[in-house]
Amino acid sequence: AQEPVRVLVTGAAGQIGYALVPMIARGVLLGPNQPVILHMLDIPPAAESLNGVKMELVDAAFPLLKGVVATTDVVEACTGVNIAIMVGGFPRKEGMERKDVMSKNVSIYKAQASALEKHAAANCKVLVVANPANTNALILKEFAPSIPERNISCLTRLDHNRALGQISERLNVQVSEVKNVIIWGNHSSTQYPDVNHATVKLSSGEEKSVRELVADDAWLNGEFISTVQQRGAAIIKARKLSSALSAASAACDHIRDWVLGTPEGTWVSMGVYSDGSYNVPAGLIYSFPVTCRDGEWSIVQGLSIDEFSRKKLDLTAEELTEEKALAYSCLS
Ligand code: NDP
Repeated sequence: AQEPVRVLVTGAAGQIGYALVPMIARGVLLGPNQPVILHMLDIPPAAESLNGVKMELVDAAFPLLKGVVATTDVVEACTGVNIAIMVGGFPRKEGMERKDVMSKNVSIYKAQASALEKHAAANCKVLVVANPANTNALILKEFAPSIPERNISCLTRLDHNRALGQISERLNVQVSEVKNVIIWGNHSSTQYPDVNHATVKLSSGEEKSVRELVADDAWLNGEFISTVQQRGAAIIKARKLSSALSAASAACDHIRDWVLGTPEGTWVSMGVYSDGSYNVPAGLIYSFPVTCRDGEWSIVQGLSIDEFSRKKLDLTAEELTEEKALAYSCLS
């Protein structure tokens, strides 16, 4: 039998956590043959609720779930974990300044970085979901210098999947036939959902470009982009709560593809440490198109970037540069 993989979920008593832990225990994260041990962390005010989630996991009798650690102790939570999904974070409350939210999250991610660095398994892969996701991931990287930068990422897969969903609805094709959209940049409203390289597989087996099939540049350069950018807000308006099931599902997609690989000819979007590809400033956590193989991602190279796209790539990079400066000002 395979050794269980230890998966940490922080903020596990929250709404995304509640949607995410059963997916992990069912094998959505690492496949139907991989046993898992869940490590769930939350803060003391959520301890009772966290224990309730643990009781439900026991009651669900998941065959792949070999153990559950539910704790408010960050060291216990991080010890021996192979995968860390960081969902816990300080939410932006009404009347709070951006700097106040940043400052709270910077201190949370700094502390959790140290715990992961000291106690996680070697080669632990980290995914940051909590907002501001890119900058939280950057802080985590800075304060866990022994974790290789290739092991630290943030979630933009939900935005990627939202873009696939919009194209699939517009063209009335199965979402599984649409591929190679790209989310560039920040997981925020400045992100750039790019369809210039996206394709659809037709029932004839032929692959056609999304731009050609949609044949409406005004929609693709306007409403499509803003719908993807504003989808989170639209869900809050409809549900009176933020997106949780889709965020949890995207987190599983992100880790699964990272660990098990992307299909041949397909890329996905991940927030990763920029090496300067596509003239994105090095040293930001920025969402790029990536392919994954043998547990490692690599940025897809050589895609053409038109003038419209260039401006959008630069705009979201500028926002991330400002966020980085703000985060550092909170540290000093
Ligand atoms: P959610 O589970 O709904 O969200 C958790 C985090 O994910 C938030 O930062 C949220 O950002 C972010 N997020 C990223 N992408 C998305 C997306 N597409 N849709 C929705 N959210 C997204 O929040 P809850 O408040 O239900 O749960 C948070 C948990 O974290 C609680 O259990 C709480 O106790 C814990 N927590 C832990 C702290 C710590 O570790 N020190 C501090 C504070 C809370 P956004 O806020 O922008 O929606």
